[in-house]
Order: sequence, then structure tokens, then C-alpha cells
Amino acid sequence: MKAAVVRELRKPVVLEERPIPEPGPGQVVVRIEASGLCHTDIHAANGDWPVKPAPPFVPGHEGVGIVERLGDGVTRVREGERVATPWLGWACGACEHCLTGWETLCEHQRNTGYSVDGGWSEYALAHASFVGKVPDGIDPFEAAPLTCAGVTTYKAVKVSGTRSSDLVAIFGVGGLGHLALQYARIAGAQVVAVDLVDDKLHMAKELGAAHTVNARDEDPVEAIRALGGADAAISLAVSPRAFEQAYGSLRRGGTLVLVGLPADNEMRLPIFETVLNGTKVVGSIVGTRVDLQEVFELHASGLTTVRYEKRRLDEVNEAMRQVEEAEVEARLVFDLT
Ligand code: NAD
Ligand code: ZN
Ligand code: ZN
Repeated sequence: MKAAVVRELRKPVVLEERPIPEPGPGQVVVRIEASGLCHTDIHAANGDWPVKPAPPFVPGHEGVGIVERLGDGVTRVREGERVATPWLGWACGACEHCLTGWETLCEHQRNTGYSVDGGWSEYALAHASFVGKVPDGIDPFEAAPLTCAGVTTYKAVKVSGTRSSDLVAIFGVGGLGHLALQYARIAGAQVVAVDLVDDKLHMAKELGAAHTVNARDEDPVEAIRALGGADAAISLAVSPRAFEQAYGSLRRGGTLVLVGLPADNEMRLPIFETVLNGTKVVGSIVGTRVDLQEVFELHASGLTTVRYEKRRLDEVNEAMRQVEEAEVEARLVFDLT
């Protein structure tokens, strides 16, 4: 099979021929049809974060495809079923986090495309208990971005406590942001979208944002305060400055949700203002298996729109460059059919 492999951090990704994997107990082999490019894959290939992946590895945690082989003991999925292989590739199921509905915090978890090989290949291994079941009628190329960008922002909106009548600021309208704003709308909120690229703000309007701010032309803190301040701000941008602006755009009692993971790992958080304004600051990491199922249900009922463009796997390095330079409207998805 063909696979895109990070052989060395900060070096171009290499296309390799590899043997098709064999399923171990509890595992399945998935013939990948569609596989998204999340900005996290770029961070992984660059070794941007404090915990680094160990090359060689195959990135990709938005793989969607057909179950082709079952390992011993698999009963949850059948051969021929369409599944998604998310970031949460496995969790222990026994720790306090797993048992209280916070499996995304499990300390023993394995992460697809990071600590174990991911979906940028023609076949991928996955744990049957952690694949998402893609409902009939959902296009695999739409299911792919939902598998990380969708579930992550759906969860971030949940964590923000957004209610109808709220104003929600979305900082960064890329792969994650274009879905985040739709989940905030579904929760009943008005959305103000912030980015540095006009085309993305144009898309945000089409997807239901009431207001847009180009942070190159205008100070988003002033612009959002002029609207009364945000009840919640969700920061998906790959820049600490955007996190500080998102914080500054909140009204009293507001909630800042940190989701983006810039290489530059620090933001300024003023103590006095946080205390006096009763501001909440919370991190949010992907979503659980149930969150993903809910994301698929919302999409199957026609409530969300996924914007994507296809790329071939051999275009991987150029595709990564385009995402890094914000030249892509929303998501790129590799076509492995
Ligand atoms: P993306 O590149 O598609 O989108 C980022 C967007 O931010 C782009 O539209 C870009 O123009 C915009 N942007 C950059 N700097 C900005 C600024 N200063 N102000 C406003 N907008 C700005 O990336 P993505 O795939 O949506 O991922 C976004 C981030 O979220 C990445 O850091 C990724 O690793 C992280 N992520 C986190 C989780 C999680 O569970 N917490 C899950 C997936 C991705
Ligand atoms: Zn991701
Ligand atoms: Zn656990």
C-alpha cells in the first residue's frame, strides 16, 4: 500500500510502499477512502509541541473508509461498514477519566497519526471500539473533516456553555472554524468570525456568521466590544496573539475556550481583569466517541455544511504548505479511492 510518512521532523513527507497491516486482537483494517489534513498534522510533522511524535510515522486522524478485515474478538463493527478513525485511537476504559465520560483525558490514550500510524495511507489499523460509525448517506469526503474538525469544535461549543441569545466569537475560520461557527449557530448563538483572510470571512458569512472582523484591518477586541462583548470566544487560530485578542473580546462572565495549538506555547493572561470580570478560561481537546456520533447525526439531518477540496496523496507537501499559509478555504481531504 501507499502511505505518506514523516521520516524526520521538519523534513518533507515521503511517499512509501508499505505492507498492508494485519489486524491484532480487537483491531480492524480500514481501506481508507478519504483522509483529511488537519493543522495538527503539520504541527506533528514539524515537532511543534512539547510532546513530540517519534518518526517514522504516518500522520492523519480524519481517515474514513471501509472495514476490510477484523481481528480476533471484534463484534462492534462488520466487514464492509464505513468507519472513521479519529485522534482518540484508543483509551484504557478503566481510569477515572474514562469512567466519567472524559475518555479524551485518559493518560494511557493512543493518538492516531501521532503516537500510532494514522490515515494518510491506503489502509489503516484501528481499534474497533474507537472507530466512529459513519451513518449511511454521509459522503466519506464530508465525514473526514467531521472526524476531527467537527467533533473538536462541537465539543468546544459544548464546553463554552453557549446558549441561545449569546454572542460567540470564533477566532480562526479554517478547517475547525468553519464548523465551529455552525455549531454555535445550532446552539442558537449569534456568531462573530475573526480571521486574517477575506475569503475565509466571506465563507463565514455564507455559513451564518452575523459579523466578521479581519484582524489585519481592524482591532477585533474593539470591534467585538462594540457589539457588547462576546459571551464565549473560541480560539482556533495558530497564534498566541489571537488567543489574547479572544480573551480581550469577552464580556464580563465570559468564557474563553482554548483549542488551537500554536508552536509558540504561551499567552498573556492578566490576573486582575480575569478576577474582576469573573472570566473562565478552559482548554478543550477533541471530543468523545459520543460527541463524534452526535456530529455525524447533525450532519445526516442536514444541519451542517462541510467545505473541502480534494488532493491526491502525492500532493501532500504542497497541500501542507497551502494550509500553513492559509491559502485553503477550509479543509483539504486526500482522495485515496
Ligand atoms: P487551519 O489552518 O485550517 O485554520 C487556522 C485559521 O486561523 C486560518 O483560517 C488562519 O487564517 C487563521 N488565523 C491564523 N492566525 C490568525 C490570527 N492571528 N487571527 C485570526 N485568525 C488567524 O487549522 P485547523 O486545522 O482549523 O486547526 C487550528 C488549530 O487547532 C491548530 O493549531 C490545530 O493543531 C488545533 N487543533 C486542536 C484540536 C484540539 O482538540 N484542541 C483539534 C484539532 C486541531
Ligand atoms: Zn485534527
Ligand atoms: Zn483511561
